[in-house]
Amino acid sequence: MKSMHAVDMDTIEMTLDIMKYAINRISNTSPELGKPKQEKELLKLVGDTVTKEGIGGEKAFQLFKDVLVKAAVPVDHPRHLAFVPAAPTRAAVLFDLVTSAASIHGAYWMTGGGGIFCENRAMEWLVSLTGMPEGTFGVFTSGGTAANLSAIVTAREYWRSLDDENKALKGLIITSSGAHSSVKSMAQVIDAEIITVDNNDEHKLTQECLEKEIKGLSEFDRKRLFAVVATGGTTNAGIIDDLSGVAEVCERENLWFHVDAAYGGAALAAPSVRHLFNGIEKADSVTIDPHKWMFSPYDCGAIIYKNMDLASNAHSQKGAYLDIFKDEGAQGFNPSDYQIQLTRRLRGLPLWYSLAMHGTDRYTVAIERGLELANNAAKQIEQLPFVELVREPGLSCVLFSRLGWTAEDYREWTYTNHDSGFALVTPTKWTGKDGEITCARFCFINPDTTEKDVKEILESMK
Ligand SMILES: *Cc1c(COP(=O)(O)O)cnc(C)c1O
Repeated sequence: MKSMHAVDMDTIEMTLDIMKYAINRISNTSPELGKPKQEKELLKLVGDTVTKEGIGGEKAFQLFKDVLVKAAVPVDHPRHLAFVPAAPTRAAVLFDLVTSAASIHGAYWMTGGGGIFCENRAMEWLVSLTGMPEGTFGVFTSGGTAANLSAIVTAREYWRSLDDENKALKGLIITSSGAHSSVKSMAQVIDAEIITVDNNDEHKLTQECLEKEIKGLSEFDRKRLFAVVATGGTTNAGIIDDLSGVAEVCERENLWFHVDAAYGGAALAAPSVRHLFNGIEKADSVTIDPHKWMFSPYDCGAIIYKNMDLASNAHSQKGAYLDIFKDEGAQGFNPSDYQIQLTRRLRGLPLWYSLAMHGTDRYTVAIERGLELANNAAKQIEQLPFVELVREPGLSCVLFSRLGWTAEDYREWTYTNHDSGFALVTPTKWTGKDGEITCARFCFINPDTTEKDVKEILESMK
């Protein structure tokens, strides 16, 4: 039987096929807007693909190109404005291929040195955007969820190190009602409890409501409280909590101050909105997802810490088989010491290459473009008689409603546009003065989305 690691004509042909696909795909600025089919339908279309003898690379790739990829949504489609879409640069996508081909283990400097070096340059840029003090640094993670978990674990371990009594307590975290679902999920992972503070129209975590909440805690709960998670751009509406107010309270109360800026963090590079993040420089930890608005391919998140020692106290894994990595001879930065994952892909490499190629100024321009699209969409909405803004745009998120529509109408509109391959725009909910309403939502990431795309989508609601 031929070895599957052999370099032969089949391998060469497959390589050319795949490179050709990659070139075509990254040059395609408006890929077909695919939609899912049921698994049993797909199975009927492609048959068994994993068999004892294998079906051959050509056949498997053909099935992928002809059937399977069309049953998925390309996140970089310019009229994909749902959830948080993405738009990786061509440089970053290609370097994702290089990252795989280079086969580097990204856990420890001993084996990953040159690659980790590149990640660290990209990280320096992220850190510089936050304005956090010297000594601040971070690592790339699989995403915002892993970054938030890494931060919360670090915070919890630090809190427990302060007082032996804390070791027996279930921790308590305060966050806003607009916080991402992963904050609640990750609190569950570490068996901590969450209080969501929400007593203003904007659902913002402010100094005032945080102070009030803490004051109202029982003595027992106050003792359990160890962290506050503020959001730097809520996923639903792009709302930024009162970061400087929250920072002040955290400092006074000796609480860990985490800022989840997974989606919004990119806007730190946008001068037009940078002031909204004032106070982030006082954070103990910050989450930013380059795979959202920093044009990296999936998956790439980042966690940044003011005090890296606290992160390594919480995360550094110990094992006889790992000792060699910590040896003098291997001295260098070990990303695995600062987050929950051991073996890791060098997922910051595509961002590094794209930053190195294009320069950070182009990132600023591309991020400002998302903000410009949101502001333009708001203007268009104001001028049309059948739609209205629910609130002013928050970063690149625009919530708006179609007069007279029910939740069912929004759902139907979403499916009709998706089915025809025209656009993917989904409804969301917003609680305002009149209670909870269903509305439509744009989230702009892709700088190639045009004002005309927005116009046509709005007209589809007529
Ligand atoms: C998307 C998002 C997350 C989760 O990030 P993943 O990369 O999907 O794990 C966390 N927080 C916020 C604010 C987000 O927008």
